[in-house]
Amino acid sequence: MRFILFLFYLTLNIVGFTQKSSITILIDPGHGGKDPGHLPLKDSLMQEKDIALKIAMKLGEYLTYNLSNVKVIYTRTTDTYPSLDDRVDQANNSNVDYMISLHVNGSPNPAIVGTETHIHNYDAKASYKWAYLIEEQFKNRAGRKSRGVKTGADIGHSLQILKYTKMPTVLIECGFITNESEGKYLNSVYGQEIIASAIFRATRDFVKAKHPKINFDPPQDLTSQPDQPHYKVQIMASIDPLKTDIAEFKKLDTPVERVEVQSTSMYKYKYYVGPFLSKKDAKKVQKSVQSNGFKDAYIVYFE
Ligand SMILES: [Zn+2]
Repeated sequence: MRFILFLFYLTLNIVGFTQKSSITILIDPGHGGKDPGHLPLKDSLMQEKDIALKIAMKLGEYLTYNLSNVKVIYTRTTDTYPSLDDRVDQANNSNVDYMISLHVNGSPNPAIVGTETHIHNYDAKASYKWAYLIEEQFKNRAGRKSRGVKTGADIGHSLQILKYTKMPTVLIECGFITNESEGKYLNSVYGQEIIASAIFRATRDFVKAKHPKINFDPPQDLTSQPDQPHYKVQIMASIDPLKTDIAEFKKLDTPVERVEVQSTSMYKYKYYVGPFLSKKDAKKVQKSVQSNGFKDAYIVYFE
């Protein structure tokens, strides 16, 4: 019996030591449903619950499309109200590695502006590091006024989400909707994008440092990253549009893209294969299309 128990513990230990190959992040848009959170200065502007949801969904997209091996789940994706207990339970019972709760602030004093990232206390070292990176991003990259990292002691009470979740958790106040200009910013798609991308960058840097063995490199899919420099192989140009499924293109075994050119040149249409992130990959395909009848195929670099 003792031997069997020993084997059991041994197995548990081996399982415990296996390296994680992916992580799960829980995004929690604050409030929702019957609970609007802080109210805006004007009825035409969004309530806290709506802005939190907008930023949450954008953040989830940034994390999903720009990092491999990250699973994103949410406490809500619509205007519903999970209780604080529900949110804590979901975090503790869904193999969540990190949790981000998103809020916007309000104050009777309309002059107050700025972001805050809350953690339970300074013993929560991982949460502190993450929160610090978020506030740095807000200040240095997003150009917001950072009010810094705050603990339960700093605000005089502990927050349920931060106190009872077992994993590193941050609660972000993305700005004050009771300030006219910050409220406008938080209501704008632009402001929501900037805030979400700042939280994304901080979170990316944080998880990369925490998990050096996990490959977070984004999937090599350029359709989700239109701004990344890349190469294409131009196979030909034409005056009148050719269909992209003609036999000559089909035998290339790779989809051909037709682009209409806005220029005064004779050619009005260009045909590409790609994109490729590396010039080496582009060269390989260039050789192959050249041997398949498109002798003049050449590589174009797009910035
Ligand atoms: Zn709130």
